[in-house]
Amino acid sequence: MVPDSVKHRLKPLHGFVGRHPLAIISAMSLGSLTLLFLGWFAADHLDYSHAGSRPSLLELLDQVSQEQGRQLESQPSNSAPKPPYSRSWTSPLARQCSGINPKIRQRLTSLQDRQHSWRSGLTIDPTNFGERHKHDAFGHELDVNPRVVVMHETVYSLSSAVNTFMTPHPRDEDQVSYHTLIGLDGRVLDLVPPTNRAYGAGYSAFLGEWAITNKRFKGSVNNFALHVSLETPKNGANNNSRHSGYTEAQYDSLALVLSGWMNRFNVAPAAITTHRHVDQGGERSDPRSFDWSALQARLASLGELCVS
Ligand SMILES: [Zn+2]
Repeated sequence: MVPDSVKHRLKPLHGFVGRHPLAIISAMSLGSLTLLFLGWFAADHLDYSHAGSRPSLLELLDQVSQEQGRQLESQPSNSAPKPPYSRSWTSPLARQCSGINPKIRQRLTSLQDRQHSWRSGLTIDPTNFGERHKHDAFGHELDVNPRVVVMHETVYSLSSAVNTFMTPHPRDEDQVSYHTLIGLDGRVLDLVPPTNRAYGAGYSAFLGEWAITNKRFKGSVNNFALHVSLETPKNGANNNSRHSGYTEAQYDSLALVLSGWMNRFNVAPAAITTHRHVDQGGERSDPRSFDWSALQARLASLGELCVS
């Protein structure tokens, strides 16, 4: 409830906002840009202990324009918005046909043979996943084949992630899931069939592509993505920029999960990426402390990186 006296004082301002919405948006943009520059300038001249992880001015500017874009789109329109700015992705995975580590190859092959001992399926609440859409919210046809793998981390324990996915979330904006979870001990839980759509990323795009399947929301990669999430070590249950990293057993399982998807859906190594990269809101940084060389050695030993 707003008191009448305040309403009275705000009346002229209200009228101005109604008559000049663009002026208000421009003033707000100018204000936030000024604050951004002042903040960036001040930060640049202070002795920051985490200076290495501080975002660059360009990254901050990108974030502001994205935030404004998100607000402006709060009113759904009937025509499809412009596709997102295409950020290029240079995969840290390199082509590799030789120099295979025989020990890793042997270990992974033997793990593969006894998959039933470390990999199982779990049924999560049906509100947390769905069908891949054949048409977007504007009636355009969509390719439902998964073609990008997005890696995440859970931040909290595996069991807390599972609890979240078991809980019904009737509101679209609360729904969350990954196709597959990998515990610190290498245990793999398949939660959503890869042919279905998991809700692993919100506002997101990969190489300029997203799908808008609900006019109330901005685009997302979910309709054509496979999501896999690594259980975060205990010292990572916070917002810090890094933690102690993932276990050898997790990298072994991850390589086997990815190898399966790459072969089944013809996913190229270059299409394995991170939530941090696909996120368009500038809010996600997972998976933190990820060791690409550990994944490189494993995928190479499985013969998955000898492609042109
Ligand atoms: Zn994530």
